[in-house]
Amino acid sequence: MPELIAAIATPPGPGGVGILRLSGPGAGGAAAQVFRPVGKVPLDQAPDRQLLYGTVLDRAGRPIDTGLAFVSRAPHSYTGEDTAELQCHGSPMVLSLALEALYAAGARPARPGEFTQRAFLNGKLDLAQAEAVMDLIDADSPAAARQAAGQLTGALSRRVEGIYSALTDIMAHFCAVLDYPDEDLDPFQTETLRRDLAAQAEALRALAATGRRGQLLARGITCALIGRPNAGKSSLLNALAGYERAIVTPIPGTTRDTLEVKVELEGLPFRLVDTAGLRDSDDPIEQLGVARSRQALDQAQLILLVRDGTRPPDGEDEALLAQALAQGDTILAVNKADLPGYACPALPAQGGGHGLSVVSLSAKAGLGLDGLEAELVRRAQALLPQAQAEAAGALLTNHRQTQAAERALAAVQRAAAALEAGVTPDALLTDVEEAMTALGELTGKTLREDITQRIFDRFCVGK
Ligand code: GDP
Repeated sequence: MPELIAAIATPPGPGGVGILRLSGPGAGGAAAQVFRPVGKVPLDQAPDRQLLYGTVLDRAGRPIDTGLAFVSRAPHSYTGEDTAELQCHGSPMVLSLALEALYAAGARPARPGEFTQRAFLNGKLDLAQAEAVMDLIDADSPAAARQAAGQLTGALSRRVEGIYSALTDIMAHFCAVLDYPDEDLDPFQTETLRRDLAAQAEALRALAATGRRGQLLARGITCALIGRPNAGKSSLLNALAGYERAIVTPIPGTTRDTLEVKVELEGLPFRLVDTAGLRDSDDPIEQLGVARSRQALDQAQLILLVRDGTRPPDGEDEALLAQALAQGDTILAVNKADLPGYACPALPAQGGGHGLSVVSLSAKAGLGLDGLEAELVRRAQALLPQAQAEAAGALLTNHRQTQAAERALAAVQRAAAALEAGVTPDALLTDVEEAMTALGELTGKTLREDITQRIFDRFCVGK
């Protein structure tokens, strides 16, 4: 029997409105002890989801606020259980007194994500949808929000379900054959099986391939700012972020750690990481910064190499450019265009394996920033091909999901290879079953309880 849980669902601190949520047996009764409606009907006898106006009470029954409340009875609620919600003024004191009163009425504090976990356990949401709730809360660009909203309404789940159901058909069709495991499949059956497996392998390959794009959409495209000390990395980060995030000083090596800001350009999410520089140093603190810079560089999808255009490039500049190009797509930002003696090179000869573009700008004077932003967007769109066009919500947005899809793909490919090698159908169907289990993990059909628990632990309290 689940316990009655309560939490403040709105963020900490003062605000216009503060919301308390309750879920579990007796939610209506407990809420009724803390809320006295102006009308005659007590809260726990009101119709589902009808808002009542009234007084919020502390645990001794003293008025502490006026507000709105409603109940929603199982199974027609977010969690699938009896639930109640109190909407007070957004006063941290009122909310804490009301929460205390709810505890006195029999509720216990909700764990992070426990409301959504109950929704999952009661079949209101599958695991992909529950994860979408978290993605939606964390979304920091319109594209990420649209993706999470689509996933929440089941776009990813339907895509996964389509493949799962096709694999079930394959199982059903060939289980009959298992009654005679020693007999060979007739050529017609082999051909059908080969075709069906190939179709599902293709669907899984397409699904797994969305993992990278989906994660970039959800978490942002990481763009590492590298360059020699004093080239203007911090100034450029501030100019792009639109506020003074990094400390800008004329002393080389001021940025000793990596700094990260999220910016949105034309609806696309970017994480700009200002690195401490990549030079060798004897200073242990600086060494730490250099190690982090290297890590940021390794994880970046885009590199913004900042160069001081008033100094002719030397061997160290060339080495940095080569290092950037070896790592990934690079934009060479030639800074300080406002100063005399500035020179911006045409595209350097070395193209490397990755794309290079050159942008002339001044971070301090705000010159050429539009051109840089347009280039960042162009690169991002190239990294996210079709992500915008693809049905919103049907992408894999985290590592867990991508791994499950990849395991399912590998299992189907093993089954197809086994068929070609003439393995008996029973062995082959074990692989198909494994693919189904992996896919089931995506939606939570077959996921172990402890792993599911870990997913919900990452949520905030009250969700
Ligand atoms: P970092 O070490 O690469 O992060 O460089 P900073 O952003 O700290 O800049 C180093 C110095 O160059 C500071 O004195 C900045 O004010 C100056 N600076 C940065 N960008 C420009 C620019 O576009 N024009 C001019 N004139 N000075 C700049």
